[in-house]
Amino acid sequence: MSQQHQSSIALSLDTPVSSLAGIGPKRAQALAERGIASIGDLIAHLPARYQDWRERTPIDELKHGMVAVFEGELSKLDERPMRGRRWRRLATAWLAIDGKRIRVVWFNLPAYMRGYMPGGHRVLVRGRISASQDGGLELAHPDVISLTDGFPRPIRPVYRLPAAVGQRLFETIVARVLPEAAQLVPNSVPDDLRADAMTVGDALRYLHQPPDDADPAALQAGDSPAHRALAFDELFAFELALAIEQRRSQQRAGAAFISEPTLTKKFAAKLSFALTRSQQQAIKEIGEDLERATQMNRLLMGDVGSGKTVVAFWAALRAVESGYQAAMMAPTELLAEQHFRSFNRMCAGLAVRVALLTGRIAGYEREAVVEGLARGEIEVVFGTQAVIQQKVRVARLGLGIIDEQHRFGVFDRARLKALGATANVLMMTATPIPRSLAMSLFGNLSVSFLDELPPGRTPIATQLRAESESACIYEELRDEIARGGRIYYVVPLIEGEDDEAKSVANTASRLSKSIGEARIATLHGRMRSAEKDRAMRAFRDGALDLLVSTTVVEVGIDVPEASVIVIAAAERYGLAQLHQLRGRVGRGSAPSRCILVASDDADESSLARLQVMQRALTGREVAEADLTLRGPGDLLGARQTGALPLKFVHLLRDVRMIENARVMADQCLTRDPSLDSPPSRGARMAVRKMLTQGFSLGDVG
Ligand code: ADP
Ligand code: MG
Repeated sequence: MSQQHQSSIALSLDTPVSSLAGIGPKRAQALAERGIASIGDLIAHLPARYQDWRERTPIDELKHGMVAVFEGELSKLDERPMRGRRWRRLATAWLAIDGKRIRVVWFNLPAYMRGYMPGGHRVLVRGRISASQDGGLELAHPDVISLTDGFPRPIRPVYRLPAAVGQRLFETIVARVLPEAAQLVPNSVPDDLRADAMTVGDALRYLHQPPDDADPAALQAGDSPAHRALAFDELFAFELALAIEQRRSQQRAGAAFISEPTLTKKFAAKLSFALTRSQQQAIKEIGEDLERATQMNRLLMGDVGSGKTVVAFWAALRAVESGYQAAMMAPTELLAEQHFRSFNRMCAGLAVRVALLTGRIAGYEREAVVEGLARGEIEVVFGTQAVIQQKVRVARLGLGIIDEQHRFGVFDRARLKALGATANVLMMTATPIPRSLAMSLFGNLSVSFLDELPPGRTPIATQLRAESESACIYEELRDEIARGGRIYYVVPLIEGEDDEAKSVANTASRLSKSIGEARIATLHGRMRSAEKDRAMRAFRDGALDLLVSTTVVEVGIDVPEASVIVIAAAERYGLAQLHQLRGRVGRGSAPSRCILVASDDADESSLARLQVMQRALTGREVAEADLTLRGPGDLLGARQTGALPLKFVHLLRDVRMIENARVMADQCLTRDPSLDSPPSRGARMAVRKMLTQGFSLGDVG
């Protein structure tokens, strides 16, 4: 770089926002809390909404509640303290529009209005019409833009910002850095493949400063050409990353399981039920993968209760009969223990050497397991992914199974590979994505689906009830217990920091008072494993009638006799998570129920969401409802951790785009398999980012 350039401050995407004029330490901190630390983050923070400042409503047509824009003269700005509210000041002014006038009020004048003198000022004003005390109409808290310097852009962005950073300040800062910074943003789609679609930089400019001819409705709906360009760019990177992973695993040597099916045959014959058609199909697909001398990298998707575990056990036995070891990993100790026990039960008599390895296995016992694995003596190990991946060496790992994969990154397999370079990988998930969508999204991976539930299950009747009906619900639970039913009662809090009534202990004591004869215990994440285990075991074995729990019962726990699940404060959960929780019951042949209790202060939109759960019974229906209810951007919820790394893709709307991105990713790889030619530079960066950050399949926890 030349001397001249160094004297001016060169902007890079990594430049911290704190280096910008107007952003002191306090604002920088507030922005950092929202994930906006660098210039790159700043320009990636897109408007949440847009306002159209072109509409003009004739003053005679104004109605209470409508949002209107006026061009007029603002005068007689006056400010005085409000009666009884010391810290608030009421500001009023008059807006003159074509000879008529309307009163404007603010409770606390916005800082940018300070410079307005009561002399008449040509302005644009946008705000909501409300009724004034004397029955007339007034404009409350409007936005005001001075016309002294000409007309502003007609479509104005509105950002979601921390309180310390005002809209105008943010807009100004974005405007200052955008022209230079937007050019620095890499495109993952190579220039020649992009054809005439917008670059990412142009798309960012379009979204921060929409051109006059942009369609405000499309912008608002996240459906503008710029949104689509961003969606395509990230989809392309996603598909490229999957394709690269898939090609890599196809090239990697993998343990080939070609022995006679001695164990798997016995296992299948011993099962107390017939496998469903899709379980058989999945087993066939997995078996074929495992025979090959390349690494298997397969995703097994199936709704809650579809019977993924037995498929996994089959695969583990296939490894064992071929002389390899298998490791099955779960996100929680409880689940790992459950798998361990069911395996022992279902494989009794097969003489497979199994072990459990979780955080609670310690001391001598632990050493024995670790040694047994290193020596190749233990054939199947069950445990939490954290423990197995970080602390264990397995002599001949032939298969790694990751249950409830949505908790882990798709690409989070570096550590698994460390266990054994040739290990095949089976990931299992009840991801809330409809099958057809998953097929195209993950088309570059090998995916097997369990798309039917084992026969004989009666659908779970789902009810939506109000918190105020609690007494009545308790009565019903008493009857259920009298009939021999078993009940999960799920509450959101361990301790009631902000809402004592919704805590585990408080709920348990209320239930004990109302249903004196019930045997009740509690279960939550802060209990020691041994205690959790005791409670869960007692519930499973029928020594308890009612288990008051946090969402730790959510993942994969299987008690076929559980007949009712009550979910308190149900509005706090996403639909996918509710579906997972609901799946704790309905695992036996007896009819079962799910009672969703909405808090008294739940708002309309959450109630509407909960109502969907009454109609949507299968995972597919829930997933579709979930996708339709949420808008783009908000898809799979930023609130939830570990969602798909697709911020702009509207999975239902963009199905065609997904196909195109996949085809294009394949093209790109065919022509430049290692992505090291200059046109693939952006693609390489984007893929690396995705592979190192990892991501998961949409969150249900
Ligand atoms: P998930 O796919 O949610 O992990 P599980 O593997 O825990 O589901 O299976 C749920 C229940 O269904 C278990 O009790 C399991 O033994 C039972 N199950 C699995 N497959 C079948 C089948 N083909 N017929 C009857 N019951 C089955
Ligand atoms: Mg499971």
